[in-house]
Parts: sequence; structure tokens; C-alpha cells
Amino acid sequence: MSDAKHQVVIIGGGTAGISVAARLSKKGLDVAIIEPSKKHYYQPLWTLVGGGVVAKEETQRNEADYIPSGATWIQERVSAFNPDENNVVTADGNKITYEYLVVAAGIQIDWDKIKGLPEAIGKDGVCSNYSYDTVESTWKFIREFKGGNAIFTQPATPIKCGGAPQKICYLAEDYFRKEGIRDKANVTFITATPTIFGSAYYVPSLTKHCEDTGINTKFKMDLDEIRADTKEAVFKDMDTGEEIIEKYDLLHVTPRMSAPDFIKESSLGNEGGWVEVDKGTLQHVRHSNVFALGDSSNLPVSKTGAAIRKQAPVLVENLEHAIKGEPLSATYNGYTSCPLVTGYDSLVLAEFDYDGNPQETFPFDQRKERYSMYLLKRYALPKFYWNLMLKGRG
Ligand code: FAD
Repeated sequence: MSDAKHQVVIIGGGTAGISVAARLSKKGLDVAIIEPSKKHYYQPLWTLVGGGVVAKEETQRNEADYIPSGATWIQERVSAFNPDENNVVTADGNKITYEYLVVAAGIQIDWDKIKGLPEAIGKDGVCSNYSYDTVESTWKFIREFKGGNAIFTQPATPIKCGGAPQKICYLAEDYFRKEGIRDKANVTFITATPTIFGSAYYVPSLTKHCEDTGINTKFKMDLDEIRADTKEAVFKDMDTGEEIIEKYDLLHVTPRMSAPDFIKESSLGNEGGWVEVDKGTLQHVRHSNVFALGDSSNLPVSKTGAAIRKQAPVLVENLEHAIKGEPLSATYNGYTSCPLVTGYDSLVLAEFDYDGNPQETFPFDQRKERYSMYLLKRYALPKFYWNLMLKGRG
């Protein structure tokens, strides 16, 4: 057991943690990142790994290469918070004291919250893009699909990247078409949400895409159980509670997710366990020296890396104000973005704020499916991520 002390301690060295650490380190602050994983993942490309476009190894790099120079990497897992004593405790029993704390621990994937999923995943047509370990199974089962029912699900819980469950449905449908087996495939997107997408602005173009391509959509149905032996997916009707059984040949599952358990068990979380910060300043509502961003925060946005790109500079500016005893003047407007891949050469680039209003970057109507936007996702955004965002630029 040992004790360490740093001016700023960041929990999590994923998208949010490294983006903030890079910016703070440049300002000469004493920063420590607590992150157990040796690897860093560019998760947005998992959609294209599942679609057979990208090798999964392309999405993984060594965490060590992205720890900013001057920052300390503590390769441990945090297990408890003591916000009144300004320290956190790791699973190894070490205490790390801070003047300021940034929580960026991501979202927890609750694989076991869908009955039968842990046993079924990766076998007999059941797959998921939602982890590095399972993402290759998606491409394997799409490639091997010869016809029948292909089902793509989205749960009722918050998830990371609200658009990802439907993106892989669109890719699979396009692949079946290219392979000449589309007429043998019954493709269905089944979601627990009431509409196809969170921002109403983009709903008409996505609905039209489904109509044009013959993808069935079913709403307010939450996957509850997988019966792998009979290839049945059991859904709960969110209005009536009724059990609905769908037979599948291919089943892409977006698992249920929640706030990380160690935050749920702490006093930092709200009722759902998400770190409770002000939605404008990103400062904790009860502990003024604690900030949070990204997937483990309670910010009411679609949880994406793109949202973090806009949150990180706001958090850093406000943390600096807090250090100097000044009012926190930077404000996050809820910007988030979702590159909705609609096929192997088309994409709708959704960008919107807290109110679902469009916040588009380009001088054209981004609701239209475009090849240029697909190229942006495939080539430009990964480069931007590794070379600029994680380096505290852009
Ligand atoms: P993460 O990047 O997940 O990092 C959290 C880190 O915290 C991890 O490294 C973890 O090891 C660490 N950690 C966890 N618990 C502890 C602990 N107890 N102690 C210390 N460290 C801990 N976003 C987009 O912008 N565009 C997209 O197109 C897009 N598509 C996606 C497609 C898929 C299939 C998936 C899975 C995600 C996608 N995303 C997309 C979402 C994006 O990847 C996430 O929103 C983003 O990575 C969240 O960043 P984060 O830092 O909050 O969490």
C-alpha cells in the first residue's frame, strides 16, 4: 500500500480522460491518470469492423503512447471515492489524494442483464459490436448469413453511441444486397426507444432509408432473453409488458449498460449512478473540486466521443478558473454527433445540441446520405482522434 498526491487526478484514460489530461499537462499542471488498461481503443471504428471494412487491430493502440508527457500513469483500478477527504482508493488498496478530481470512467456494459446473452454471444449467429472481444463475431455472422431473419436490437438503458445499433443493421442490409441474397433476408431493427433516433431533425431521413431498403422497424420492444437452443429472442413490449418472441438466424445485440458500479456505490452519483455535474460547467453539484465528462457523467446527451471533443475544453477552462478562485465561465451546450453509416458508401452526419437542434459543421444539408461523409468517418475522423484530440488539439 502506498500514498500518492497530485494536483489533478483523472479516473479513466479513455477518450475523455486522455483528452483532458493532454490539455491540462500542456498547462504545466501536475496530472495523474488512473487507468488499468494497457490498451486504448478507438471504439467508433468497431461499426466498420463489424461490417468487415476494418481489421479490429486498427482500433487498438498502446495506452502508454497516449499518456501525455509530464503526466503520471497509475496503472490501477479505482474502487472507492472519499470526496470529503479528497482521495480515491484503488483495488490494490492504494490511496491517491488530489486537489482536483476528474471522473472519466466510461459506461459499464452489463452483458449479464439480458438472460442467456453471456452464454450465447459469439455463437450460432449471436454477435455484438460493443466490445473488442466480440466485434469480429458480427462480421463472421453477417458474412456467413445465407437468408432468414436478421435482427438488430437496441435496449432501453442509456448506451454509448445511440446510433451504433442501427448503423450495423444498415451495413448488413447493404451487404446482403451486394451479395445477391437480399430477397432471402428479413432484416429488422428492434429498439426499446419510441423513435428511430434521439434528434427529431434526423428521423425523417433515417425512416426513409428504412422504407427504401425494406428494413422493418419495431419500437418500444426491449430484448430480455436469448434462447440460443431454439434461436429465439424474447422481447418485452414496453407499453404492455407482454412477451414477444422473434425467431432469429442472425442477432446483433446491443447489451444493456449502466453507470460503473464503483460510481453507483459512491456519493458522487445521481439516482442512476452517473456522476452528477452541472450540465453547463461540468462541475460536480456537491463537490466543487470534482468535475466529470464523457460516458460516466450524467450529462443528458447521446454519449459519444464527439460530445467529449466539445466537453473537454470546457472542463479544462473551468478547472483552471476553479484553481484560480474565479467564476466558472465556460459552458457546454450539449453538442453531440453521430455519423450514421447507412451503407458501404453513404452516411448521414447527425450533429445536435441538448435540445436536439441541429449544430451542423458543413454548409450543406447533413440529413442527406453522402459518400463524402462516409469517407470522413472511415479515414479522417480516426486520424483526427489519434493525432489531434488525444494530444489536446482540436
Ligand atoms: P471510454 O473511452 O470507454 O474510457 C473509459 C476508461 O475508464 C476506460 O479506459 C476504462 O478502462 C477506464 N475505467 C473504467 N473503470 C475504471 C476504474 N474503476 N478505475 C480507473 N479506470 C477505469 N462515438 C462517436 O463520437 N462517434 C461514433 O461513431 C461512435 N461509434 C461508436 C460505436 C460503438 C460500437 C461503440 C462501442 C462506441 C461508439 N462511440 C462513438 C462512443 C465512444 O466511443 C464513447 O462515447 C467514448 O469512447 C466515451 O469516452 P469515455 O472516456 O467516457 O469512456
